[in-house]
Amino acid sequence: MAFRSKAHSALAALREDLAGEVFAPWDPGYDAARAVSGARAERRPAVIARCADAADVVRAVRFGRDLDLRIAVRGGGRGLAGTASGDGALMVDLRRMRRVAVDPVAAVVRVEGGATTGDLDRAALPYGLATPGARARATGVAGFVLGGGTGWLDRAFGPAVDHLLAVELVTAGAERVRASADERPELFWALHGGGGNFGIATALTLRLRGLPRFSLARLLYPPGLAPEVVRAFRDILRTGPDELSGAVLYSSPHPVDGPLCAAVLTYAGGADGLRALAGPLRALPHIRERTAEVPYTRAQRLLDLPAGLRLHWSAECLSGLPEEAVDAFCAEAEGMPVPSRSRQLLFPQGGAVAAGPRSCPVASRDAPWIAHPCAAWADPADDARALGWVRDVRAAVRPWRTGAVCLDLIGEEGPERVRAGLGAGNMLRLEKVKRRYDPDDVFRCHHNVRPV
Ligand SMILES: Cc1cc2nc3c(=O)[nH]c(=O)nc-3n(C[C@H](O)[C@H](O)[C@H](O)COP(=O)(O)OP(=O)(O)OC[C@H]3O[C@@H](n4cnc5c(N)ncnc54)[C@H](O)[C@@H]3O)c2cc1C
Repeated sequence: MAFRSKAHSALAALREDLAGEVFAPWDPGYDAARAVSGARAERRPAVIARCADAADVVRAVRFGRDLDLRIAVRGGGRGLAGTASGDGALMVDLRRMRRVAVDPVAAVVRVEGGATTGDLDRAALPYGLATPGARARATGVAGFVLGGGTGWLDRAFGPAVDHLLAVELVTAGAERVRASADERPELFWALHGGGGNFGIATALTLRLRGLPRFSLARLLYPPGLAPEVVRAFRDILRTGPDELSGAVLYSSPHPVDGPLCAAVLTYAGGADGLRALAGPLRALPHIRERTAEVPYTRAQRLLDLPAGLRLHWSAECLSGLPEEAVDAFCAEAEGMPVPSRSRQLLFPQGGAVAAGPRSCPVASRDAPWIAHPCAAWADPADDARALGWVRDVRAAVRPWRTGAVCLDLIGEEGPERVRAGLGAGNMLRLEKVKRRYDPDDVFRCHHNVRPV
């Protein structure tokens, strides 16, 4: 009874103090506010604090601590497991905090904690600048970068974590701190892959790179040709310049045709150069080809998914793509939920990803390839099939996996996978940082590092 009355008065005070909005389960708007992108991730937070600024985030964290609540963070809301809404947790919702400020002279960008990849790209591209981001516009920049994500520009410039210059954070003690190479370097290191474990990022500062030209090639093939397409793609990437990246993907848009195979090449350069590089793929019989110089933002639309679908995905980092691995990968496309928005992807790494520093807790950067089955479907009756297919793709490529994990590309798969994502050798160091900034483990809704 005493707790309930404490909770009621704390909630009333939060409503009063917050510049943003507060949603309790009985409030109109609660259901819309708690929704995250995957329709399977049904979570019911105790309270949702939709913050307007960093001061609001401090107020929200104080409220959560007073009531002993776990604290979940909603950035872009595109995480898989619904961790951003956390059952019974305080959900700190940053969707109103999406401001982006570009300094074109210094080539840096400051984004607020709820800004999306699309927000950032739209602001930077008019200056001919970009920073490696996710392959879809709606993903949150903070969730993606702090989780060690991978994108189209990584081979050219290095992964997103290599571009992190500073993080403004609200810690579990409701303290506002800044982490950079010079300020709290240990925390700064931990944020390079350690995700939301150490606090709520109210803003990130990232280095921008010159991207005056960008080209995209998309080739669609009949399904039977897929193994040859994957091999041609692999060989092009093996010898191609770092500016070249892309994906091979199966998708299954039509009920009758079964999964179709497509090759996407992205290139930080002009279309003529890309056409030449794509030669072996263009020489294979294809249904359609589109190769053109485009704004970089166009590539960020290729893998977007509409909200409201049921989602499940996972990934395996691969040490190589020998012939048997190609065949094993291609054979699994038969099991895709058809028709659906699912896709079975292979991403190349290497280039500046492999060449960059090894110091940060992102274990996946040594892998030259990532296999990524991503199930996206509408009918709950297809749940078992979709989940089974994701499991099967992982199992099929298991003989070639490195054991590392790209944490942004998996959901809740247990502590061993989190360890494999952060690097077993980094765990003790991360746990010490956790103890310093979140000793009670309130930020434990997602890929948890426990305080030692
Ligand atoms: C269509 C689609 C395409 C994708 N493409 C890629 C891709 O190309 N490459 C890739 O690597 N990943 C990709 N992802 C995965 C995505 O990068 C991760 O799921 C990422 O965590 C999503 O971040 P979010 O803020 O959108 O999600 P949310 O669900 O809001 O957040 C997920 C988690 O990130 C943390 N977090 C988010 N914001 C903050 C913050 N401000 N401060 C502290 N912690 C925070 C929290 O722990 C939270 O639980 C894609 C996902 C989708 C749905």
